[in-house]
Amino acid sequence: MNSSQAPLPPEEDRLYLSVVAPCYNEESVIEELYKRVTSLCQKHGYSYEIVLVNDGSLDSTWEIHQQLCANDPEHMVAVNLSRNFGHQLALSAGLSVCRGERILIIDADLQDPPELLPDMLRKMDEGAEVVYGVRRTRYGDSFLKRTACTVFYRCLLLLSDYPIPLDSGDFRLINRRVLDALNSMPERHRFLRGMISWIGYNQVPIHYDRDSRFAGETKYPLRRLIALAIDGITTFSVKPLRLSFISGLGALLFSLLLFIYAIISWYFFPDAPRGWASLMVVVSMLGGMQLFVLGILGEYLGRVYEQSKSRPLFLIESIKRDSMQ
Ligand code: UDP
Ligand code: MG
Repeated sequence: MNSSQAPLPPEEDRLYLSVVAPCYNEESVIEELYKRVTSLCQKHGYSYEIVLVNDGSLDSTWEIHQQLCANDPEHMVAVNLSRNFGHQLALSAGLSVCRGERILIIDADLQDPPELLPDMLRKMDEGAEVVYGVRRTRYGDSFLKRTACTVFYRCLLLLSDYPIPLDSGDFRLINRRVLDALNSMPERHRFLRGMISWIGYNQVPIHYDRDSRFAGETKYPLRRLIALAIDGITTFSVKPLRLSFISGLGALLFSLLLFIYAIISWYFFPDAPRGWASLMVVVSMLGGMQLFVLGILGEYLGRVYEQSKSRPLFLIESIKRDSMQ
């Protein structure tokens, strides 16, 4: 992802599974998360690690991480960020250090059940490269949040140039190939669920009911939710920029019609009040031209923006070659 990314260990040292969870003031849930993930992995005999990222918490989250590391050094990795960077960057930090072949991204608060893991792994055995959770129900969220999310995901689908699955958060299982592609995308405003959709390959949904938080409060007040929505829309679409181009064109067309109307009324109805039609023509034409020029600027700006994201141009799924050549 960038120069701070840890070098990957050699293949033979890689683990089967990494579970990555960002944590911000989650002292009341971490131990439960650790317990549930550990008992699941031990029951199924996976070789695994749990990567917990402390995103500048103000409570005892980091102390608990360290304690868990001391008690279970074989499976625990604790990452401490220098301050609060936000959910998406905390997650990106965890993803840049994990060593597993398959990576489960999960929130610390247990709203997304880790017990789905065996089913998700099975889907991956059957050929999926990403298994993303789709929320059938959202028990834990307020009416306002549910409505805001429903509207947001539908707007995103409308604006984005490629499909981003409806009602899915960051809860997903990805493989190493997808993670490497994700880490090679250096953009600063990271909307990970969209970026993973952008990567493509074989992505398969898994439906589940979203619980309420195990404990603690949501770290996503409406203000942060709106910021995430703006990131989601602006990183995946330059269509809002195109809007001024289209409305400028519309206003110019309108002023042309007015112009024709003004000529006709001047010619056929000499008694009609003078002045207003020509005034309207001038106003709408000037407004239209300004929007039109802004739209042209927007088109260039959109291209500069796309370029500055420095995403890979394409990702190759597979190549077949005639071995005789
Ligand atoms: N989180 C984080 N940094 C932040 C805010 C949230 O690492 O600045 C983590 C948080 O600890 C949790 C996950 O992001 O593991 C999702 O947050 P939360 O559960 O509060 O969001 P919600 O489920 O209410 O949308
Ligand atoms: Mg939550």
